[in-house]
Amino acid sequence: MKTALFPGSFDPLTLGHDDIVRRAATLFDRVVVGIGVNADKKYMFSLEQRMEWVRQAFADLPHVEVASYEGLTIDYARSLGAQYLVRGLRNPADFEFEKAIAQTNRELEPHIETVFFQTRARYAFVASSHVREVIRYGGDYTLFVPSAVRITS
Ligand code: ADP
Repeated sequence: MKTALFPGSFDPLTLGHDDIVRRAATLFDRVVVGIGVNADKKYMFSLEQRMEWVRQAFADLPHVEVASYEGLTIDYARSLGAQYLVRGLRNPADFEFEKAIAQTNRELEPHIETVFFQTRARYAFVASSHVREVIRYGGDYTLFVPSAVRITS
């Protein structure tokens, strides 16, 4: 069984993430959207909320799951039995950043392959950090997120 881990913060899940998950879901038997918990990082949305949004967004895909983890992504991937890590690439800056992470992970675990998905052009500008800014100042964030992501309070 081909298992892929798509790690990230998903704070919140965006249409860019949604596109990557759906494309990955056509290639792998099981896709785990892994929400990394970093004690030093401040998040806008709680872990429970972020997980719930992911769960709802992919309710139509039974082989997509959501989970959270602490510690090294590569260790978590190993514990899942994942053979692949999935990441999205929007631009050259993402590439440079991701290249170093993938090379580090390959040193740590040569049996897990990092697979990059090139962002669909119409979502290349979408970033969780920008979406948070739009939310913070009352803009229409629904343009950038799947319909499962709605702020109720
Ligand atoms: P992180 O905190 O690891 O950067 P993110 O939730 O921001 O977590 O992103 C997780 C993954 O999703 C990364 O591989 C990132 O490149 C990818 N990603 C983010 N935004 C988009 C987008 N608009 N299109 C495609 N991939 C994206």
